[in-house]
Amino acid sequence: MLQKTSYFMKQANLIAGEWVEADSGQTIDVVNPATGLKIGTVPNSGKAETVRAIEAAAEAFESWKKTSASERAKLMRKLHDLIMENQDALAELLTLEQGKSLTEAKGEVGMSAAYILWYAEEARRIYGDVVPSPWRDRRIMVTKEPVGVIAAITPWNFPSSMLARKIGPALASGCTAVVKPATQTPYSGLAWGVLCEEAGIPKGVVNILTGSASEIGGEMTRNPLVRKITFTGSTEVGKILIKQAASTVKKVSMELGGNAPFIVFDDADLDRAVEGAIAAKFRNSGQTCVCTNRFFVQSKIYGKFVEKFAAAAEKLKVGNGLEEGTQQGPLIDEKAVQKVEEFIADAEKKGGKVMTGGKRHALGGTYFQPTVIADAKPRMRFTREEIFGPVAPVYKFKNEQEAIDLANNTEYGLACYFYTQDLGRAFRVMEGLKYGLIGVNEGVITTVEAPFGGLKESGLGKEGGHQGIEDYLDTKYVCIGGLGI
Ligand code: ADP
Repeated sequence: MLQKTSYFMKQANLIAGEWVEADSGQTIDVVNPATGLKIGTVPNSGKAETVRAIEAAAEAFESWKKTSASERAKLMRKLHDLIMENQDALAELLTLEQGKSLTEAKGEVGMSAAYILWYAEEARRIYGDVVPSPWRDRRIMVTKEPVGVIAAITPWNFPSSMLARKIGPALASGCTAVVKPATQTPYSGLAWGVLCEEAGIPKGVVNILTGSASEIGGEMTRNPLVRKITFTGSTEVGKILIKQAASTVKKVSMELGGNAPFIVFDDADLDRAVEGAIAAKFRNSGQTCVCTNRFFVQSKIYGKFVEKFAAAAEKLKVGNGLEEGTQQGPLIDEKAVQKVEEFIADAEKKGGKVMTGGKRHALGGTYFQPTVIADAKPRMRFTREEIFGPVAPVYKFKNEQEAIDLANNTEYGLACYFYTQDLGRAFRVMEGLKYGLIGVNEGVITTVEAPFGGLKESGLGKEGGHQGIEDYLDTKYVCIGGLGI
């Protein structure tokens, strides 16, 4: 059924199948970053609402867990179809609250649908084992069951697809969910409630609430009914949640920050590398955890790469995401712009050369020019800190080992990219890089079929692939004895 954008824009919590306001009646304003204008409000909920949502999910779990895999898969295929039928409206809602271009927003919504379809298929492949027994008269069975109520917290940069990666495996495995989308971009999160209702997913299976992150997150981690917490966001908040979840020994999956390196070797196809660099840096205005934070370019081609890269960055069309042809939207808020300005000022003070951009965009507000900085040095702040904006520092290196060492010199380990045409080097570098996601001659690699997840302080667990459902399942060993054999 084709619906308008406003149909999906719910300004209420979904608890036990009812759309309700916060107990206090208080709300939080939601602003369009492209215009700075308020587009609506959402409930400012806290602990009490979270307790009710968790209890609703626990009650719904009792019947949802008994559904068959094919019953769940059927509902999920319906959910997938609804998302695709309403891709345009959902994309517009996403652009309105988040700022990314409509093309990127449509891509994200398509990705959300793809995750749901993938997990609809995976639902039917949650296999256990029958293991050869060491005893004649006993049999060994290993079964998989849904963990129960899961709690999910998601960020503002991919407000739709980050929830798809969590709601998908939850529904497929037979878990029920309480989710909290980011306060800046709550509507794409709340839209999941409308879609689940339309698809016929029973009341209480998916509960969604907005409000105080620390109160909602505090209750999600404290409450013993919640058996798993899944979070996408900063490493800083991830660490708080891991600590809090320890009190009730919950399973935790964490998709945290990154400091992605992008290495270009002398033998690379330069034009391909520049094209990949633009996508790996400026997608979503540089606001993704897999966006390149540090470009390392070998000395022989350094000058040429910088020149071509800066020229390509300069051509990117900055504007309101709703306008045709926009390639880079605004940043999420003023704080993000100030952070980017600080990084650039720090780099310039330490000898960095701004090749293009470097300033707020003439459009005003939170628009920023795509920026390339040459002569980047390890002592500059962005060597260690996540930029999360359209700034590309380019460092020079001499040999392969140096590139690997520089790339690995960070506590993060999410995504990395490198360009070479030498097969031996491709394997040596791939095996040398301590990262969970590696693009070889590719700058954008995320897909539902593959496991997404970081190493080191970038996270725990995987999302997507057949691996993405494992954390939603408990493994049980059953020994059946006395068979009289
Ligand atoms: P970002 O920098 O991408 O906003 P955050 O980690 O600050 O990353 O936020 C990601 C999500 O985590 C958001 O939904 C935010 O509201 C939530 N969040 C922030 N602080 C806490 C906290 N102390 N406990 C639980 N959730 C939190």
